[in-house]
Amino acid sequence: MVVMKFGGSSVATSAALARVCAIVAAERRRKIVVVSALGGVTDALLAAAAQAGAGDLAGALEGLRGIRERHEAIASGVRGQAERAALLQDLGAGWRDAEALLRAASRLGSCSPAASDAIVAQGELASSRLAAAVLNDAGVRARWIDARQVVITDRRHQHAAPAAAETAARLTEVAAPLVGRGDVPVIGGFVGATADGVTTTLGRGGSDYSASLVGACLGAAEIQIWTDVDGMLTADPRVFRRARPVARLSFREASALAGFGAKVLHPSAVQPAFAAGIPVRILNARRPSAQGTVVTEEPIRRSAPAAGIACLGNLCAIDVPLPDGAGRLPALASAFEACALAQAVPALATVSDAGVSLVVGEGPEADRVAARLGPAAPTRRGGLALIAVVGDRLASGVDVPRRLLAALDGIPVHLLSRTPGSIHVACVIDEKHLARAVSAIHSRVFERGRPPDSGRGVPADGPRRRRPFGPGGTEALA
Ligand code: ASP
Ligand code: MG
Repeated sequence: MVVMKFGGSSVATSAALARVCAIVAAERRRKIVVVSALGGVTDALLAAAAQAGAGDLAGALEGLRGIRERHEAIASGVRGQAERAALLQDLGAGWRDAEALLRAASRLGSCSPAASDAIVAQGELASSRLAAAVLNDAGVRARWIDARQVVITDRRHQHAAPAAAETAARLTEVAAPLVGRGDVPVIGGFVGATADGVTTTLGRGGSDYSASLVGACLGAAEIQIWTDVDGMLTADPRVFRRARPVARLSFREASALAGFGAKVLHPSAVQPAFAAGIPVRILNARRPSAQGTVVTEEPIRRSAPAAGIACLGNLCAIDVPLPDGAGRLPALASAFEACALAQAVPALATVSDAGVSLVVGEGPEADRVAARLGPAAPTRRGGLALIAVVGDRLASGVDVPRRLLAALDGIPVHLLSRTPGSIHVACVIDEKHLARAVSAIHSRVFERGRPPDSGRGVPADGPRRRRPFGPGGTEALA
């Protein structure tokens, strides 16, 4: 059995859904389909919820109407008359729920996280109903499953964590029998519910998480993430146009790339698949014949020294001076404690003779950390970006740091981090130099006459000790 997850752009229009039908029909194995909301719908629903909470009910309802019309336009293309009527009715009930919540939020003058979840969940509930109907219309025996019936979570609204055992039990009870008789369950991603049925969501981009959860709970042979790019690339294509697809990645590499900003995979999305050892395949719904990227448990042996380059922009460094002598250790401890209390995991942190530099997101995250640091008198340096070169071979000492520094010749490097045994080297530079830096690093790391990955990467031999990897180390090199 395979899980086929389609992202927002893959289900955004009738034409996109027609491609989904062709892709699902062409998969001969038993399967479960997981879908995101139609592209842009989650943002629009969140905006409507915020508008309602701020008292602009008219604006919120206007936004909801636009969303509703988008779905109805696609639903009207369903050929079976009875099916079309049932679909429109089901969708209508969902929008009425959302409307009632928006009205309540506007009366109360605020939209609670619980209300926001119930409103936003309508995006995936609707897209999954729509996808199930369109698939049926195309001859696939699709069966819609309400995600709230099978994905059971805690009650942390907007960032709910699934309860693995309960979710596995529900999926086994509800979805597995359908799969067993050759039907195709269709489930909205991102959405769950508490054990007593209160709607929750798993956090932005959470549909990938849902897909790997479903796959892990039901022991899928493979989890396919269908998106609109040819897989994970050697660099962010928005920063570097000549980035190339990478045929194979290890889980560890994919997690590190995602953690450092590669947009294709949601960082925590890999975790359930990782734990269950299930390969995750990233594929392009616009070009189903493209090879894509397969992410597997084994480390990858490849000719290039690294797997890819990820980058994160809009960062700021908070520099906390450290006194000499007895005050040094408490000052260091309170710098990291401030991050913990501010719920901010630094993208990178370095400790040097001068002090500790904490690189965090510009804006609210940095504000929270600075507020917690209080009288420690930190300075803030904004306009920064982080570049991380990631690859399993870095753990065994391949000379990527040297190449990185050589490539950055002439570009000021604010921080550099390399932790022994970790699979990345990261640096922080001014964001204005990002494109130039990534291009220079890419040519040093990937363009020495060899393709980045021949596509025939073979697992390195022997089991490997799993090490936890975090964002950046605390070893200061610069
Ligand atoms: N629709 C949700 C979001 O936009 C979940 C997802 O697409 O993965 O964040
Ligand atoms: Mg998404």
